[in-house]
Amino acid sequence: MTQSKRSPTMSYPNLGYLKLDLFCRGARIGENCDFERDTRPVKRTRGGLGSGLDAILPNDVWVNIPVVESFAQSSPYEIVKRNQKYFLLREGQKICELRLPPPPLWYDEKTSSGKPIGYVGVMQGTYFSIYPSELCNFWKMSPKKNCQFCSVGLCLGQTESEEKSIDDVVQSVIAALKHERITFVHFNTGYIENDRALDIVMPYVEAVKKKTGLLIGVQCPPAIDLSKYDRLKKMGVNHVSFCFELFDPEKFETICPGKAEFFGRMAKSIKGDHLLEQIRLIAASHLKDREPHPAQLMFYRALLYCTKLFGKGRAAGEIISGLEGPTRSIQAIEFLAELGAVSTVCVFRPCIGTELETMAPPKPDELAIVFARMYEVCVEKNIPIGIAPNIKTAMVHLPEEGRWLSNRSYGLKGVRYDIMRSLMKTSFKALFTLARFGK
Ligand code: SF4
Repeated sequence: MTQSKRSPTMSYPNLGYLKLDLFCRGARIGENCDFERDTRPVKRTRGGLGSGLDAILPNDVWVNIPVVESFAQSSPYEIVKRNQKYFLLREGQKICELRLPPPPLWYDEKTSSGKPIGYVGVMQGTYFSIYPSELCNFWKMSPKKNCQFCSVGLCLGQTESEEKSIDDVVQSVIAALKHERITFVHFNTGYIENDRALDIVMPYVEAVKKKTGLLIGVQCPPAIDLSKYDRLKKMGVNHVSFCFELFDPEKFETICPGKAEFFGRMAKSIKGDHLLEQIRLIAASHLKDREPHPAQLMFYRALLYCTKLFGKGRAAGEIISGLEGPTRSIQAIEFLAELGAVSTVCVFRPCIGTELETMAPPKPDELAIVFARMYEVCVEKNIPIGIAPNIKTAMVHLPEEGRWLSNRSYGLKGVRYDIMRSLMKTSFKALFTLARFGK
């Protein structure tokens, strides 16, 4: 059967497109669904953009499906339960079976301080995600300076606890390891004044690494003092990522007012920094028609430093597609690839309660080329992807899932790239098993 790369309505769908279509359109909750009993709770998490149902498409493709937002109520997709199985329908026609991860009853287990684990961290796809610090300081300012799409400040006290001790976190990670066989723990903070974000995260990272040997990723706003990244690397952090959200300088300033103001001020206070000048030139060459925002340069500076320090593919830049045109998203992806960084591309979701709640979600056909490009640049620049074992993201496409949206063929180069990836995957798995041995 000849399969169009982009049509989701065939009996065996293009999974890259289907995932994208679900991000953009969501799904209605249909007959017999009992998510409360059958799967993870649909709760807003402090990841800021999440609010949906984690589900697994064929080929073990994870997707977080919007189900509570108003746009999802008019989606052509519907989730139904028949004979104890869940299915995804489109306009009444069965598309595929939908597996749901089991209900995490262990979220109710308590740490030794009496905190329910579900208030310390949450599963996102196949990894455990922890927001260990105080609330992002942009939400605490008066007037608030939070990013307009973000829901982080709407969750506190409802689904998350602000105070988390190192023991709470270590015990919760051990529980996630036991119940879900995780391989990866992700630490995340919002903006913390006085360049303290990494200082706050480090003791948790160090303790979790020591006790479990699991892979660790850190996502914090950029540090001014770059030597903090050297300390992270020494602790064994495997991956770092930076959310600059938008490549377009004007959109960035409007949608992320706190980031624009505070990181812009920092950039102006740093004098004679050769990295800042180097990255300004690279970013401007990709933007073509304008200069990057000074605040964006702080994110790019830290990224450049980390791609050199951690190596190709171990630092990522995170953007939101659908809040700026696809051309800008593609420019961002190509810029990141030039640095040796991977792109993490979120699809804009107008989450309930946020300032952008009433905006329409993006159109999948307009974004498909963005996700194709996300994969293509990795082949073109030899950036290794999909190396670490058992990491499946539900909120974003894995770079390798972009392959299903690309029409490009790379011939011998593509074959060499796949061989390189497969060798790296095997040796990485062996090293990971060794590091976990005896923990
Ligand atoms: S920096 Fe922006 S996106 Fe991140 S937590 Fe703060 S308000 Fe949300």
